[in-house]
Formats: sequence, structure tokens, C-alpha cells
Amino acid sequence: MAVERTLSIIKPDATRRNLTGRIITKFEEAGLRIVASRRTRLSTAQAELFYGVHRERPFFRSLVDFMTSGPVVVQVLEGENAIAKNREVMGATNPANAAPGTIRKEFAESIEANSVHGSDAPETAANEIRFFFSGLDIVG
Ligand code: ATP
Ligand code: MG
Repeated sequence: MAVERTLSIIKPDATRRNLTGRIITKFEEAGLRIVASRRTRLSTAQAELFYGVHRERPFFRSLVDFMTSGPVVVQVLEGENAIAKNREVMGATNPANAAPGTIRKEFAESIEANSVHGSDAPETAANEIRFFFSGLDIVG
């Protein structure tokens, strides 16, 4: 296993309910280290670009509206096998299918308002980290 970095977003449903700290604790308890962090609010253009891969999906417009509906916390997580480990800690996209103890099982409101995003592969992780952070922002 190698040390990896992955991009995490704490989504507007979670910031609205003041769950930032409880979600970060889940990452840290899993051995993931926060090496960059910023609270921000996505513009429509940013959300459309970030989720561009889903442009043709029926839920795209609603997803962009949701992701711009309030603040998010964008973070770079670092650790052994960080990409897969983060997705394990997050749980399944649909909270109804998420395993007990996962962030989405405990906190998600719906398949859309599912509290967190995590990169799904090394190439997307590198692109998504670059989307939000410059190298100087990341301190391991
Ligand atoms: P993310 O990319 O946010 O980490 P994911 O990889 O588990 O989540 P994707 O299939 O990439 O899931 O979908 C991106 C996001 O789009 C989901 O996290 C969710 O917010 C929303 N989404 C996915 N499927 C649906 C759906 N069927 N209806 C509504 N929203 C959806
Ligand atoms: Mg995804």
C-alpha cells in the first residue's frame, strides 16, 4: 500500500447541520490526515465543472443546486490507501445502502444530500485536488 491523497468535500447538508467536526473525526479515526482544508461556497460554474461527468444524468441540475445551496468544506486527506479508505468511511452513495458506522449511514439525509464527496480513483483524486488547491496549500 502506498500513501495517497484524496479530495473530500463536506457537503451543504452537513455544514447546515453543524456536522463538520463529527465528520472530520471519522476521517481522523480511520487514520486519514487533513493536509489541506478550506471552507467555501461553490459557484454554479464551479459545481457544474466539478460534477461535469454527471452532466447528462437526470439529477445533474438538482445536484448543482444542492451543492451551491450553502457552504462546503473542501479538504485533502492523506494516508495509506487514502482513496479507498475515504470511500469506505463515507459509505455507499445511497445512505439506505450504507454500512453501519459510515458517515453516510449516520448523517446523510438522502441519496443527493449525502453529506460527503470523495474522489474515486488516483487520476480523479489528482484532478480534484488541483481543482481546489495549489501545491503551496497542502502541508503534509
Ligand atoms: P461523490 O462523487 O459525491 O463522492 P459518489 O461517487 O458516491 O459520490 P456519484 O455516482 O459520483 O456518487 O454521484 C455524485 C453525487 O450525485 C452523489 O454523491 C449524490 O450527491 C448525487 N447523486 C448520485 N446519484 C443520484 C441520484 N440517483 N439522485 C440524486 N442525486 C444523486
Ligand atoms: Mg463520484
